[in-house]
Amino acid sequence: MRAYRVDRAFDGERVRRRVLVVVDGDRISAVRDATEPVPAGVPVVDLPGCTLLPGLVDAHVHLCGDGGPDALARVPGQDPAERDAVIGAALRRHLAAGVTTVRDLGDHHWAVADRRGRAGEPRVVAAGPPITTPGGHCWSMGGEAAGPAALARAVRERVERGVDVVKLIVSGGSMTAGSDLLALQYGGPDVTHVVRAAHAAGLPVTAHAHSVESVRVCLAAGVDGIEHCTCMTARGLERPAELFRALAAAGTWVCPTIGRTPGSRPSPQAEELAARTGYTVAGRLAQVGALAAAGARLVSGSDAGIHPGKPHGVLPYAVAELVSAGVDPVRALASATSGAAAAGVLGAVTGRLRPGFAADLLVVAGDPTVDIADLTRVRRVVVRGVEVVPAGPDPGTR
Ligand SMILES: [Zn+2]
Repeated sequence: MRAYRVDRAFDGERVRRRVLVVVDGDRISAVRDATEPVPAGVPVVDLPGCTLLPGLVDAHVHLCGDGGPDALARVPGQDPAERDAVIGAALRRHLAAGVTTVRDLGDHHWAVADRRGRAGEPRVVAAGPPITTPGGHCWSMGGEAAGPAALARAVRERVERGVDVVKLIVSGGSMTAGSDLLALQYGGPDVTHVVRAAHAAGLPVTAHAHSVESVRVCLAAGVDGIEHCTCMTARGLERPAELFRALAAAGTWVCPTIGRTPGSRPSPQAEELAARTGYTVAGRLAQVGALAAAGARLVSGSDAGIHPGKPHGVLPYAVAELVSAGVDPVRALASATSGAAAAGVLGAVTGRLRPGFAADLLVVAGDPTVDIADLTRVRRVVVRGVEVVPAGPDPGTR
């Protein structure tokens, strides 16, 4: 056993002062007031000036993507050893940034799903290959299916493979040649069919949806989560107030997949889209702010791994962009801890400082509930009770 004592903690939901967190093996055994006596014989790590949080959860990553230019297009060309090395390197980068759980939403066949559970790595919530139309967005990942029988088969295969969530590509996407982001890949009956089959097997469904039309189809079909949710039309970003309110009322998890390394360029595909539709980053942040103000349940996920502006471990910048969009820092932090854990079916496992929860911890210098940039000042990372990032001297990077 050991204990961490801090002046300040974010428990996954709110800020607490003077907290002692006791870790026993891979779990949190107690969360107490720091003025209470420490259990006899338990060593205490004092962390003055720091904030203790649950390890972060990145709800949208592509572990097979190496974060280089056109990363997803190069995935099919990897040999198995290379692919395993890319996944391992990706997970190490997440850990270094304080991300102790990732939800992989773009597997290449079953490479990520089959490799879950290695010691000292972040926990992986896996979807397997996204279900998509023949030749549709992300088709090369291996999840093509069309028509009720094939869709039912695709869900059954995922259940048998033991995935944690079903990912369905409902609109086109910008990262697949020939795919039109504004086009609808599946109509309402198909999406409803997948949702019913997945729910009958106890699996949630999260849907890739860019166009306003695709978001409406997903909402009506009762998906559990929507990825991107850019609400695009040929005229650019829309802010349909009634749709945002309906998403909030339905309790649908919305993962806007914002967040980029500061100073990095958008992907060429995003630049092309901006030229075609008038999309701007400022407009996107204003739209996400409107979604938050409508009361939507936001989840932080970065789309890490797809291009150089989105390397693995970029999640703290996604949280910072939510704050730039007008979201309160405490709510933004919840979207990357308790919220993302709940969306990833781990709401009773990780994402909170609570007895019985996994000892997944992040210690940062400063106070990210006041200045969200402090989320990048990583001092310690603990994953399932194992310290993977030790305390070092403050590099004074601020
Ligand atoms: Zn993605």
